This record gives sequence, C-alpha cells and structure tokens, in this order.
Amino acid sequence: MVDKRYLSQQNLPEIGVEGQLKLAASKVLVVGCGGLAAAVLPYLAAAGVGTITLMDEDQVCESNLNRQVLFNDADIGLNKALVLQRQLQQQNPAIHIVALPKKFDLENGVDLTKAHDLVIDCSDHYFSKVTINYCCVRSNTPLVYASVLGWDGQAALFTMKDQDPCYKCWQKLAPQAINTCTQSGVLGASVSIVGSHQASLALQYLLGYLQHANFLFVFDLWSLKQQKFKLQQRKDCKLHFSQTQPLPSIAWSELERIAPYVLLDVRTIGEWELGHLPGAKQVSPGQLLQPEQYNKTDNLVIYCNQEWVSSCVVENLQNLGYNAFVLKGGYAAWH
Ligand SMILES: [Zn+2]
Repeated sequence: MVDKRYLSQQNLPEIGVEGQLKLAASKVLVVGCGGLAAAVLPYLAAAGVGTITLMDEDQVCESNLNRQVLFNDADIGLNKALVLQRQLQQQNPAIHIVALPKKFDLENGVDLTKAHDLVIDCSDHYFSKVTINYCCVRSNTPLVYASVLGWDGQAALFTMKDQDPCYKCWQKLAPQAINTCTQSGVLGASVSIVGSHQASLALQYLLGYLQHANFLFVFDLWSLKQQKFKLQQRKDCKLHFSQTQPLPSIAWSELERIAPYVLLDVRTIGEWELGHLPGAKQVSPGQLLQPEQYNKTDNLVIYCNQEWVSSCVVENLQNLGYNAFVLKGGYAAWH
C-alpha cells in the first residue's frame, strides 16, 4: 500500500513501501528539546517514525528563541517537551508522540533507552551527554549524538554493539571548558545544519543502513567544511572494561585511612542546599576540569547522588594525574 503522505520518500529505491513500514514500527527517544531537536523532530515526525518520545525538564525561556525555532513568545514558561508534543502531533496525527517533562538520569535512563530502538541525544551539556551515553552502553541501544558550540559542530551514530566505540571512547577527557550555548554563542542556522545531519543519520539507521555507523562527523560551521573520521573502541574506556579496571573508590567509613583528604560535592547547588556530607565543599563538575587549586598529592574524594557523575570526574582527574577517589554509593548511601 502506498500512503500519499509519504509518496515522495517511498519513491526513493532505498526506502520504498518496506522502508516506510520499518519507520512506522520504530520507537525513538529524543533527549533534550532545544535547538538540535528543533531540526531533528519535524523531519522524524514528517517521515512517519511511528513512536517518538520527547524528554526535557526545562521550560522555554526568551534566550532560547534564536535557535529553538519551534517555540514562540507564547510558549515562554511552558515545558519544552509538552509544547513540542502538541505541535508534532498536529504536524502528523498518524504517529504517536509521548512527552516526558522530566530529567533523563541514571535512575530512569537504562530502562528508557532499552524501551526504544534508537536514542537521539539533543542535550546541550557534557554531563547530560555522558549520562545518555552510559545508559545506551549499558542497554546496548544505538545512539545518535550531536553537539554544537560556537562554530564547532559534531555528530555521530554509535551502534553500541560489543566491539563498537562509545562517546567516551572519543571524548576521553571532558572538554577544556564546559560552557552553555549562551556563554559561547551559537547561531541558529548552524545548529540546524548539525541537527539535520543527526536526523539523516537516525533515519538511515532506522531504515537499516549502517554505512555511517561509528564515524565522527566534524563541522566547521564558519568555513562550512565537514570532515569524517572512523572511531574505534578505546581499550582503556572504562564503560566497556569497568569490571577489570575499576576507578579508585572509598567508603565513608574508610575515609580516615586516607586523611587528610578534600571532600568535594559535585551535585547541583539546589541539591547541596537540601543536605550534604559534613566537611564537604560544593563545586560544579566543570570547575574540576582544570583543578589548579589542588595539588597532585592531595587526596580528592568526589561524590554525587550515586556514582555516575563522580566517576566521570574522577576518571578525568586521574587522567590529569590527580589522586582522586569516588565516594562509594555517593550521597544516597550516606543519607
Ligand atoms: Zn567507550
């Protein structure tokens, strides 16, 4: 059966009726409903991807409007996932759009990624990206990653099979600076180039084409040049070898053994204000990327709510030559 709505794309020999049925049967999770999602989502919905789950805890604000072009002034203050659910459902009533107005985290992430055929990372922060990547590695769910900051853009399809690379295989160290789009500046049209690329990678994957799998696409959005590099699984990436190469960790009850130590809380200020460990200091994970204020002989003990963000920070500190430990079980275990 040829559906008139999709006739143009079904006429492509690579798609046809069979490809259209594959798209209709696909379930995709899109994490982050900002600028990248504004380029990705209308094309997934228009192409007839059967189920699209949108996830974002944030509200639309005025400084989003230069690049998050599906929003307008009347949406300011409303949850992004809920606004886009309404719009996309109007755009294509034949598909199923689910909105989750909450944060993607380690508690919900593995089950959510496992329940979808593909995850599209449209988030805009390093620690969201490592959390999404972690959950996709654990659930073996393919991931289409992208990032845009200033005039630099990247995109990649990670297939997440046993020998395949992940985002952390490539981005071993955290970036030198973790800035937001507002801090570094970003042009909406640049975001849409990378977002459209992300949508193409996603649709080709769902149709069964793997020719772009595990390559990194790098965009210079000023000169408009693009390059492509093959990625390999890194043998010291702890996401694949966590059983054989554990990070240094220590329980609260054992801390005296390494005294003196510096206890650092890398949760949000809001979480810190609700309660924290005695003797701890609150720092953002980004402040520990170039931790010149500490000596390499200091014992740095890092905690977050559980162990995920603290593990990322400790891995990064270890790679920089610092003595860093994950506090076992994090704040949840102490609390
Ligand atoms: Zn990896």
